Amino acid sequence: MANDHPEFKGYALVDSKRFTDLEVTTFEPKKFTTEDVEITITHCGVCGSDLHTLKQGWGESKLPLVVGHEIVGHAVRVGDNVKDIKVGDRVGVGAKIGSCMQCKQCKDGMENYCPKGVSTYNSVYPDGIVTQGGYSTAIRAHQQFVFPIPDGIESRYAASMLCGGLTVFSPLVTNDTGPGKKVGVIGIGGLGHYAILFAKALGAEVWAFTHSPDKMEDAKKLGADYVIDTNNEDFAKPHAHSLDLIVSTMDSTPQLPIKQFLSMLYVHGRFVTVGLPDKDEPLPTLHAFDLVPNGYYVGGSAIGSKKECMQMLKLAAEKGIKPWIEELPMKDAKKALEGMGSNEVRYRYVLTQDLA
Ligand SMILES: [Zn+2]
Ligand SMILES: [Zn+2]
Repeated sequence: MANDHPEFKGYALVDSKRFTDLEVTTFEPKKFTTEDVEITITHCGVCGSDLHTLKQGWGESKLPLVVGHEIVGHAVRVGDNVKDIKVGDRVGVGAKIGSCMQCKQCKDGMENYCPKGVSTYNSVYPDGIVTQGGYSTAIRAHQQFVFPIPDGIESRYAASMLCGGLTVFSPLVTNDTGPGKKVGVIGIGGLGHYAILFAKALGAEVWAFTHSPDKMEDAKKLGADYVIDTNNEDFAKPHAHSLDLIVSTMDSTPQLPIKQFLSMLYVHGRFVTVGLPDKDEPLPTLHAFDLVPNGYYVGGSAIGSKKECMQMLKLAAEKGIKPWIEELPMKDAKKALEGMGSNEVRYRYVLTQDLA
């Protein structure tokens, strides 16, 4: 059913050389289908992906471009085939906004790994429309990528869970994080602070690793049982073969002491990276001798599925998990992007609607 149609406009990148000077621009949304939900946006988190994309670190952007993929708002129009969401519901959208819904991954409930997946911004729908993100008034999304927000979570807290939170929650649950497990978290930033909150809420013993001494106290307050300063060259030695899982949130990796981190894994332990550095920053090289003697696995993880997102939101509502955020009006996106670039953010900016 149709309601008032929002005007689609947002703070867009218009000149890639001035990547924080966003200008209010109108855009064309995707064609509304029976599977879609139209959402008026109240909040949007500021993700590291936004900065990488605006700075052209992951390749060229399609201009003008509105970024933002930690979106919360209200459903104002719901397609006839949409289940479980009605007009007026509080809902969110994360980093993906579409997939083929036909492939094995999609049918198995792992639509976040669909090879035809459409990203929430800077991607192209099959009809040629460029996707535009959440520093904007409104968005349309396929129901599989729209997450109902439980009453127990405020919108400002839910927003950054939908990419930042889910990106670490997925590898935690995929790798059986729970009581009796020891989980390491590398990097205390937007993602890392969520990894500590969720690993703790799932019942694991949490080890936080940081090279920022001023974040050690924060890591403890977030729930880490142990906090290790990685500036000490031998930081890994006392903890050899002790961790079941390490989630690395580092999004700049050439200097990552990966061998030291791997040496802390127990037999068949897993190292999962979720941070995505710029294209010219490969992971440090590994030799077979680094992996074989202790049977480690090294892998990655991409966001999470709707099923995992709903599990995360339920846990967050039940346990009263609150991310550490700073709220700013959307017009101050520049301030948030600069604060994120200079690593001043503690630990996520959330933009609030000021265009509608
Ligand atoms: Zn698919
Ligand atoms: Zn993100």
